[in-house]
Amino acid sequence: MLNFELKNPTKILFGKGEISKISKEIPQDAKILMIYGGGSIKNNGVYDQVKDALKEHNLHEFGGVPANPEYEVLVKALQFIRENKITYLLAVGGGSVIDGVKFLSAAAKYEGEPWDILKRPVRTLEGEALPFATILTLPATGSEMNSGYVISRRETNEKLSSGGPGLFPQFSVLDPEVIRSIPKRQIANGIADAYTHVLEQYMTAPSSADLQERIAESILISLQETAPKVMTENFDYDAAGNFMWCCTMALNGLIQKGVITDWAVHAMGHELTAYYGIDHARTLAVIAPSHYRYNFDTKKEKLAQYAERVWKITDGNTEEKAEAAIRKMEEFFHSLEIQTKLSDYTEDYQKTAERVEKAFTERNWLGLGEHKNLTPQDAYKIVEMSY
Ligand code: NAP
Ligand code: FE
Repeated sequence: MLNFELKNPTKILFGKGEISKISKEIPQDAKILMIYGGGSIKNNGVYDQVKDALKEHNLHEFGGVPANPEYEVLVKALQFIRENKITYLLAVGGGSVIDGVKFLSAAAKYEGEPWDILKRPVRTLEGEALPFATILTLPATGSEMNSGYVISRRETNEKLSSGGPGLFPQFSVLDPEVIRSIPKRQIANGIADAYTHVLEQYMTAPSSADLQERIAESILISLQETAPKVMTENFDYDAAGNFMWCCTMALNGLIQKGVITDWAVHAMGHELTAYYGIDHARTLAVIAPSHYRYNFDTKKEKLAQYAERVWKITDGNTEEKAEAAIRKMEEFFHSLEIQTKLSDYTEDYQKTAERVEKAFTERNWLGLGEHKNLTPQDAYKIVEMSY
């Protein structure tokens, strides 16, 4: 097992009705900016619950953060924060709103050009950000209990990530009741995103970190078992709760400790969102199978372990099990009505591999993946395989 440090300071308030407790978590003298997305929280009652819980606090609001949070919108929020001397940020939404708030929290205390935080990127250390908390409305990203974030910039077609130990939420509320109003398409996205987060931290060279591997496999199995229950029309509170907690556990830092991680699927996937606006989770379902086929030799042992332990496949040798595992993974995405070929999403796919190769070369991303040896030319081939 590799050496590791683990510190996750985010307090979780899990369960029905927990939003009402937030007034006790935020200092009474805080000047709060509540930040939300396109308005789903006004239709499902979450907005009213937050307003009610914070009626004794000094509360301001900023709505309109779009999916794949845009820099252009966030700089307007930053201006509001500075002009009004806001001291505490409250994200109410999915990964996009939470990521946007993390960027704002870092940018509010950063002296230079805000885009530098993403472009260079600049890590945000403890004490270098405005305090913030989240009320999660869409299980998917794990952003509610981690310190990373991803921001898009439309004018340059860029989607870049940053983070740092100063960007853990102080607390996050996980009330499974919010799942009632999520469209099935977004539930499917949440399952696929969380599932791929686990794969990115698991589908690497065999490790000796037995516990992390078993936890990762448990999250994959739990997502597979929960998926049909949360994809039906009938709301099931316990299934919703399990789905929500799986998504948080998939990317709160725990399963990555002591193991090698990959993250090349996300790096390539982000480009597809930047060019075509394809939902984040769907880009991962497009790239992951090609990534595992392209890197078959280095990943086949872990793929075979995934086949045995997660899919209960016992027939065949290592190669056969590994191939069956990739097919099972594709079938799982298809069961969520998520397509796994780029041409399913855009007719304009022909030049994508070239664009990805060029972008990675320009950014000096010359060695991605678990062994840091995946070149922009490899990325070209993987993206081309996903057509
Ligand atoms: P999202 O972009 O936050 O939300 C997607 C859509 O779902 C929005 O239109 C939103 O509407 C709607 N929605 C959210 N909650 C809802 C509810 N309870 N009922 C009805 N509709 C609801 O989706 P996401 O998948 O959570 O976040 C994706 C972003 O996170 C991407 O930019 C991705 O790159 C990033 N990401 C971050 C991490 C990380 O660790 N930080 C990891 C993976 C991905 P409204 O706008 O109206 O609320
Ligand atoms: Fe993701």
